[in-house]
Amino acid sequence: MVAKKDYYRILGVSRDASNEDIKKAFRKLAFEWHPDRNYEDGAAERFKEINEAYQVLGDSDKKAQYDRWEHNGRGFVGFDDFVSGLGDVFDAFFAGTSRVRSRVPQQGAALHYKITIAFEEAAFGCEKDIEISRTEYCSHCRGQGGEPGSQLVRCPDCNGAGEVRRVQQSLFGRFVNRVVCERCYGEGSVVTESCHQCKGTGRERKRRKINVKVPAGVDNGARIRLRGEGEAGTWGGPAGDLYVTLAVEEHSLFKRDGNDVLYDLPINFAQAALGDEVEVPTLEGTAKIKVPSGTQTGKVFHLKGKGLPSLQQSSSKGDQLVTVRVVTPDKLDEEQRRLFQELSRKLGKTKMPEQGGKGFFERMRRGGKD
Ligand SMILES: [Zn+2]
Ligand SMILES: [Zn+2]
Repeated sequence: MVAKKDYYRILGVSRDASNEDIKKAFRKLAFEWHPDRNYEDGAAERFKEINEAYQVLGDSDKKAQYDRWEHNGRGFVGFDDFVSGLGDVFDAFFAGTSRVRSRVPQQGAALHYKITIAFEEAAFGCEKDIEISRTEYCSHCRGQGGEPGSQLVRCPDCNGAGEVRRVQQSLFGRFVNRVVCERCYGEGSVVTESCHQCKGTGRERKRRKINVKVPAGVDNGARIRLRGEGEAGTWGGPAGDLYVTLAVEEHSLFKRDGNDVLYDLPINFAQAALGDEVEVPTLEGTAKIKVPSGTQTGKVFHLKGKGLPSLQQSSSKGDQLVTVRVVTPDKLDEEQRRLFQELSRKLGKTKMPEQGGKGFFERMRRGGKD
């Protein structure tokens, strides 16, 4: 977790400072700490901090948000997100001050993809072909950017330095910034003839079919990582990874609880009272269940090993839990009605359980008033 930063302290203003005071304090500090004027160790860091503080306190919405967080003492959960949202402002502000591209190999960016699979596919595993668009090293120049046979020569714009100086007017004065050379992108050298296929970028976009193997037992929201199937790296750096997030469709009969499969078994009064042998669907065909006589709604039968395989241990499987629901018939034909009436006479009326104090019905009689 990021340590809590006190933006008021950074700008040296009180908590009830006016917008104008905050702006004044920021200008003064930014002028003092700008890395092009201040060569102290850590000046750039301090300058960035000052900016960060001003991006928040100088904006009424963000300031209100910040004050709320501080007030709630929530230890700045989500502070990272709060700050990362400021990235664009910093980047614009810092454009060219010290960001010079270097030839350090860097890994490519990650790619994300989402696929929807059926309940059974999650249970048994499956393979899916997906098509993605990604950056790869140019096949013609093999990522070098030059037409085969061309040569690397010193960049004429920056004389090989990779950066040029530029005067900039800003909110708090005039600065000379070093900016990345636009001709050689900071590399100091250019090719005599750019690659015709990638226009010298060394990269090209490609559509690729990727086969994704989904292991048995995955759950909704699971993420599969395919190493090196993301965007190409730079300067020989490895490609990024591809992450495939799975959405598992609901099943018309089954629900899932971890590795167990849940199933509701509807039976009628007679089956519940007399007992029966019934067939229930499972992920792999059907299974028979002996419903003993006198079974009540809510009774759960375990079908061992009829659930989903465990991702960690493919040999272990969950169970299918079959929950009995005794269904009351909502339509009776004449014969059924006669039989139920006969049964009703035999069974008699169910008795109200004894209750202490005033009963529900008594209260009803009094019109709900006690
Ligand atoms: Zn090329
Ligand atoms: Zn250059």
